[in-house]
Amino acid sequence: MLLFFIVGLLVHFVFFASIFDIYFTSPLVHGMAPQFTPLPPPARRLVLIVADGLRADALYELDEKGNSRAPFIRNIIMHEGSWGISHTRVPTESRPGHVALIAGFYEDVSAVAKGWKENPVEFDSLFNQSKYTWSWGSPDILSMFAKDASGNHVFTYCYDADNEDFGAKDATKLDTWVFDNIKEFFHAARNNQSLFSKLNEDKVVFFLHLLGIDTNGHAHRPTSREYKDNIKLVDKGIKEIVSLLKEFYGNDEKTAFVFTSDHGMTDWGFHGAGHHSETFTPFVAWGAGVKYPQKASDQQFNDELLKGWKLEYWKRQDINQADIAPLMASLIGVPFPLNSVGILPVNYLNNTDVFKAESMYTNAKQILEQFKVKMTQKKEVTLPFLFTPFNLLSDYKQLDILRKVRSFIKQENYDEAVILCMELIHLSLEGLSYYHTYDRFFLGISVLLGFVGWASYVSLLIIKTHSSLTRSVSKEVKVCLENIMII
Ligand SMILES: [Zn+2]
Repeated sequence: MLLFFIVGLLVHFVFFASIFDIYFTSPLVHGMAPQFTPLPPPARRLVLIVADGLRADALYELDEKGNSRAPFIRNIIMHEGSWGISHTRVPTESRPGHVALIAGFYEDVSAVAKGWKENPVEFDSLFNQSKYTWSWGSPDILSMFAKDASGNHVFTYCYDADNEDFGAKDATKLDTWVFDNIKEFFHAARNNQSLFSKLNEDKVVFFLHLLGIDTNGHAHRPTSREYKDNIKLVDKGIKEIVSLLKEFYGNDEKTAFVFTSDHGMTDWGFHGAGHHSETFTPFVAWGAGVKYPQKASDQQFNDELLKGWKLEYWKRQDINQADIAPLMASLIGVPFPLNSVGILPVNYLNNTDVFKAESMYTNAKQILEQFKVKMTQKKEVTLPFLFTPFNLLSDYKQLDILRKVRSFIKQENYDEAVILCMELIHLSLEGLSYYHTYDRFFLGISVLLGFVGWASYVSLLIIKTHSSLTRSVSKEVKVCLENIMII
């Protein structure tokens, strides 16, 4: 009986573990070559500002008096840059949001089995590809991108999150800490020759992680005065940092800015799921290489949000969260993060058609590289006669598309080149998903058959035990009756 119980427990443990083997496997592959765009980039440096937990509508809407909570950002939308909604995926949490933004892929689900805070797998990021990255904010987020960066070129400045007092009473302190520290940093750089020369290099990134809005949202809900006032504070802080950078770099017009958030928040102050209050995040970009505002007359969206925001005359260009990574990489001219599945939003670029076409070509090759590595890996672990390749993207087809793109670029037929690159990207992504879920059907059937087998065995055993029991009981009754007869 004990043996039966142990075997039963073991079987269920195997079934449970199989869920992780089938569904929670890492989609990431390694060993791809970095891809470059052979043209000079528009920006020398990029500032990424992430307001944690900021909902798109909370930023874009007007208050009761018809005023904007973020007048500086609104002014950018109307006069300097491009804007839209960045659509995030579930889980709408800080870690996966930042991974999508900075590394260009959606959360590796295998992290479920390994804890969310630490990097479950190594991955490449924009920061890793940059010459230098300086980042300020919460240690939980900053450490994710500094730990696996190769060499000493990603610098972090974090507040002490374990210090209970810090930001507990007033969460806006989390943001003012970031703004104050950047100001001090640039002030100190003027008297520090080595830091000064580093700051003047190309391919430099500054990352500001602002946790105040998220913390206020959890504590007071997004409809609260605290949440809304925190947006005002962030807007003012950004304005100051932008003018500080302009002054530091002598108005060289070589800085690109990206402002967004990692996820939104429900009216109740939660996030994690897929409601649009959680998945719609603001996205505003401006500066070197970014398109100026475009007038729009007839914008159609499924949501009715535009009218309420009074922004219907400025073209809204929505993107997926992972597309932000290739956009930032393209602006400062670093290779797209190796594991990125983001598609460069060319509509955001203020650049030549040849630059756009070449950048899309780089993007297509970078995603195709992942497809090729994934296919090789799958081929190696599958018996040759059982291997069914992804037919839509054969070796011949890959070469054919790449050759056509090159000749279109040569003929200055850039639009056709971009369309073909998009086709190659979509096929590569489809192929990546094909190989990632390649064994899922086989494993699923095996587990199902295994379970049916085990259930049948247990049922038979129960029936057998039960019938032998009734047989022995009836035998005992017979003996008993015989004894009574004798008496
Ligand atoms: Zn949160």
